[in-house]
Amino acid sequence: MMLDHTHDLALKSWVGSANNPTTDFPIQNLPFGVYRLRGSHDVYRGCVAIGDKVFDLAGVDAETGPTLNALAAAGRGTWRDLRRQLSAALSDDNKAGALSKFLTPMTHVELGLPVMPRDYSDFFTSYYHAYNSGRMFRPNAPLTPNFKWLPIAYHGRASSIVASGTNIRRPRGQRVLPGDEAPTFGPSIWLDYEVELGLVVGPGTDLGATIPIENAEDHIFGVTLLNDWSARDIQGWEYQPLGPFLSKSFATTLSPWIVTLDALAPFRAPSFERFEGDPPALAHLTSAQNEVQGQIDINLEAWITPFNLHTPHKLSAASYASSYWTPAQMVAHHTSNGCPLNPGDILGTGTISGPELGEAGSLLELSQAGTTPLIVGTRTTRTFLEDGDTLTLKGRCTAAGHTPIGFGEATGKILPPQKI
Ligand code: MN
Repeated sequence: MMLDHTHDLALKSWVGSANNPTTDFPIQNLPFGVYRLRGSHDVYRGCVAIGDKVFDLAGVDAETGPTLNALAAAGRGTWRDLRRQLSAALSDDNKAGALSKFLTPMTHVELGLPVMPRDYSDFFTSYYHAYNSGRMFRPNAPLTPNFKWLPIAYHGRASSIVASGTNIRRPRGQRVLPGDEAPTFGPSIWLDYEVELGLVVGPGTDLGATIPIENAEDHIFGVTLLNDWSARDIQGWEYQPLGPFLSKSFATTLSPWIVTLDALAPFRAPSFERFEGDPPALAHLTSAQNEVQGQIDINLEAWITPFNLHTPHKLSAASYASSYWTPAQMVAHHTSNGCPLNPGDILGTGTISGPELGEAGSLLELSQAGTTPLIVGTRTTRTFLEDGDTLTLKGRCTAAGHTPIGFGEATGKILPPQKI
């Protein structure tokens, strides 16, 4: 990870709102996304976030097309050059006159899905999430025997990945309702969210090729927020022996901004310190670099706005840095059998939970499988999500001597089940 002048604490932008200490998008961030004017049917265009504005990439002669897949494929050198060009253009007061026409207030735009993923895999890398959720179903053996040997994952559906702001329809499915002995088909009653990050795959690989852990981060274009909406009742009935299926594939929300690994360089952290007696990771999942700074310290929050209130309520906050497996280990493992990755593919980290109860990244954990209602506002409690509730994920990085950067939001509102 390389620090350069784009990370300087002293760097300011001629876009005034980018210098506000509370913004997610100072000039040290420069996350990539796609936008169009709100209410238009224009083709989406590539942009970066800067303060409360978007800056069209045409301003630095870097047009992308309606998704960032081609930019993802271009590789680390291109991403870094573009970042440096944008940093120079948006910090040089003499350029303000010529470049202002490439800015649009965020309140005037619609942000699209930044990449069109061909594949989506979801991992299970947080020890605390695995422990909390495993304990509910297997009190004597919360972790499966493979957890500490490899980053467990399942194949999700790319077809239902949606942009932030898309409404989420409560799914129907087979589930065994409390007190019933046999399953019935109907709306999920245990609808949940999962606080995750999405790694956006860069150049990717051909069939048969592997990515050694030392090069794995060259294949990560950047990081988004990801909400893996989950129907726990459907999941509980269907997940054995092949893993989750329809309980997850009805929708997955991505945030609009891809925060690059270059922007995240000041916020790297050591990989998880394994417990006494844990097996060491096998050689193909080990590197010196990964030990020292394989993790990223991103503080993640989940907020609910209950349908009957207008005030958002914070459900949890946790750092991604407490996950057992790192992004590089996920990429190395995923390709270790020769399975190709393609530009724009999404690798979900799995639910991110920390060691404390208020750090749990799902209602399954926060409400102890629905047995302990949470107070989420005046005379309002929740065990799982209700129709009309809005769930929002946020992410922010802070480190001494560096400008804080943020991820924006991944949000979605629950709609009642489709009438049939
Ligand atoms: Mn998940």
